[in-house]
Order: sequence, then C-alpha cells, then structure tokens
Amino acid sequence: MNLVFLGAAASGKGTQAKKIEAEFGLVQVSTGDLLREAVRAETPLGRIADPLMKQGNLVPDDLVIGIIEERLKQGDLGGGVLFDGFPRTGPQAIALDEMLIRNALPLTKVLSLEVPESVLLERVLGRRSCPTCGAVYHLKAAPPKREGLCDHDGAALVVRSDDNEEKLKNRLAGFRLEIPKVKAHYAAAKLLAEIDGQGAPDVVYARIQAVIR
Ligand code: AMP
Repeated sequence: MNLVFLGAAASGKGTQAKKIEAEFGLVQVSTGDLLREAVRAETPLGRIADPLMKQGNLVPDDLVIGIIEERLKQGDLGGGVLFDGFPRTGPQAIALDEMLIRNALPLTKVLSLEVPESVLLERVLGRRSCPTCGAVYHLKAAPPKREGLCDHDGAALVVRSDDNEEKLKNRLAGFRLEIPKVKAHYAAAKLLAEIDGQGAPDVVYARIQAVIR
C-alpha cells in the first residue's frame, strides 16, 4: 500500500502517519523531516532551505522533488510508503506521479486531514518537539511523561522555530493557495479521501482505518 497524506501544519498528520506506519508496515517519507535533517547537517540544500523554513515559506519545487528522488533511490520502499508533507504543490504532484511510475510504486489512496484554522493555531502554540528523534507532544493534549523531556530518549523538548502564530499564518496562506490544486489532481484520479481531523488522536485514527480498509 502506498499513500499520500495531506494536511496543514499541526493538522495531526505526523502523529497519524506514525500510527499508519506502525499498523500497516509502511515507511514514512516526510519532506519536512528530510529538510530539517539537511539543515542540521548544513548541506548546500539545508543552507537554502533553512531561512525559508524559518519564515514558514515553501522550499522551491525542484529542491523538494530532488530530495524525494534521492530518497526513492534507497530502494527500501517496496513494502509500502507513506508520503507526509509531499506533494504540497501542483508541480510536485505531477513530479511524484512520474517518479512513482518509474519506481513501480502505484498510489493506493490520498488522505487529506481536514482541520479548521482556529484549531490548528491552538495545536501549534502548544506543540513541543524532540530535536533528536522528532517525536511530537502537546502541552495539554499529549504531554510527555516527564515535563519538558522526550519519552523516548530524554532529550529536552523544543518549540520548533516555525511554530508560532505569525509563521503559522504564513504557512497556512501558502497551504490555502497550493493545496486545492493538489487535491484536485488526486480527485481527478479518484484517489482522494477527505478525513475529519478534529477530535482525539484515536478517534481520528479510527476514521483513517475505515478509509484504508
Ligand atoms: P512540515 O514539517 O511538513 O510542516 O514542513 C516544515 C517546512 O518544510 C515547511 O513549512 C516548508 O518550509 C518545508 N517543506 C516541507 N515539505 C515541503 C514541500 N513538499 N514543498 C515545499 N516546502 C516544504
């Protein structure tokens, strides 16, 4: 099974992606994670992406398509893949179609997590992330067992530099502009399933399971 998972910043996409990955044995490919890795490693791509990500702007299509191309070359996705945060624009969706044909990875479904913007803001302001393993918490909804520390590796949790109101508004503006094109692309291919992303993580996950099964 090969899935594309669409959803705005803080829609719960990362959390749900981990659950899908665990249950269905998929490998999660997240452009946000790959870009953050490039920034940490200070690669040439990371140096270009860093200021754009800090401002909540999209990284140019050719660079993002390039990192997906590189990721596909690792050849470990034959058992199923979940694309998280990609594609985010029309040209990225078209490029992904071509890359998937070349790699014999046909798409099974495109899930779009739908959450109102007021809820997204509340979620972003309470979000804390682990800088080493990428685990995500929420101060109220999903706090870590020990305050301020990651449950998995004990690292001190941080607020991502793009997790504030101003940057979120910027990210959502880009999302509002581009994502309808991506959704239209997959609706035309009869692959799109819209899922209500409001409620507790397990409730949302049950909706996702119903669609996948
Ligand atoms: P995310 O972790 O998915 O919220 O992504 C964090 C940031 O990485 C975004 O705000 C963008 O700056 C950048 N990014 C991630 N995926 C893409 C993409 N598919 N196209 C362009 N920029 C992206």
